Amino acid sequence: TVQRLRPFESTIFAEMTELAIAHNAVNLGQGFPDSDGPASMLAAAQQAIADGFNQYPPGRGMPVLRNAIAADRARRYGTEYDPDTQVLVTVGASEAISAAVLGLVEPGEEIILIEPYFDLYAAAVALAGAVRRTATLVPDGDGFALDVDSLRRAITAKTAMLIINSPHNPTGSLLSREELTAVADLAIEHDLIVLTDEVYEHLTFDGREHISISTLPGMYERTVVVSSASKTFSVTGWKTGWACAPAPLIDGIRAAKQWMTFVAGGPFQPAVAHAIEHEQAWIAGLRDDLQKRNALLSTALSEIGFDVRRSEGTYYVCADIAPLYDGDAMSFCRAIPERLGVAAVPVSVFTDHPADWDRLVRFTFCKRDETLHAAIDRLRRIH
Ligand code: PMP
Repeated sequence: TVQRLRPFESTIFAEMTELAIAHNAVNLGQGFPDSDGPASMLAAAQQAIADGFNQYPPGRGMPVLRNAIAADRARRYGTEYDPDTQVLVTVGASEAISAAVLGLVEPGEEIILIEPYFDLYAAAVALAGAVRRTATLVPDGDGFALDVDSLRRAITAKTAMLIINSPHNPTGSLLSREELTAVADLAIEHDLIVLTDEVYEHLTFDGREHISISTLPGMYERTVVVSSASKTFSVTGWKTGWACAPAPLIDGIRAAKQWMTFVAGGPFQPAVAHAIEHEQAWIAGLRDDLQKRNALLSTALSEIGFDVRRSEGTYYVCADIAPLYDGDAMSFCRAIPERLGVAAVPVSVFTDHPADWDRLVRFTFCKRDETLHAAIDRLRRIH
């Protein structure tokens, strides 16, 4: 392995999933749902295979999907993207993010991540030979807020890009309009590209609304929006994602993407297009289910004695283990698959400052009720 990838040789999910399997634990570590997406979408993918959509689709993605994505963003956010030049279909949001970093940032330029951050961002920065800097979220009541000063301090003359993620993995927090406005002001002042990872855009709870920074004044022209079917339609294995941005930004992303994968999987594309057009009610149902499951798990965790953070969206809730356990979150997560029969992930692995985040554990609730109940019963044995 080359030096720049050595810090990224294994992921926490591999380690915790291995432990979960070894001890037959309920896996609330990795965020993938255990029920399927909308039936009409699954049928559409099978039909696409039967209909012979089995060769390379166009490099930018099948027009039917690019059109659906553009129409959907226009309808929900009021932002217009030309499906021919401003929408790119990728192998999951993952590839959109990596290709954006590779295609838009020079080696040695700086990219700001906000801690805690989804681990892929740091690896993408390293792959591109760019330099990672960090700003941070801070505890705020029972949730989290962006430390805007930390963002201001992280910006230098070499900063090229800022990556934000709301609804946020791992904390489940949303960036408010005020926070996004502060980010936008700094991005405009310092002429930064903002990559906004919106894979959980639909999964917000209790009437809260996701705001895309692309809709703020002066931001459309400098923003790369990334999203994906993975979470919206419960098909993390389909790896069908996309980027929307002004054409010059899409050109850079596409230039990198075409040499990595050339195209994304064919039969999934008309199926996802169908779902975007016809399964909005299904998405609302998923949001309601996740909201209930968040409430179920959050309430149980706090009854057990964890200090639970408010989850406003995503698949995740974080809990402070301090009232129940003396060690740090990493040792807790390494111990509980065997001791309690449950797997979870320490938030410290999502940061460059693990000591500042050493008591928080991330649990996923994107599982069937019986799975959550089994995990809760097992976690009660902590006493
Ligand atoms: N961004 C975030 C914040 C995620 O949590 C994930 C998946 N866990 C991804 C991107 C990757 O999405 P995809 O499956 O579409 O590559």
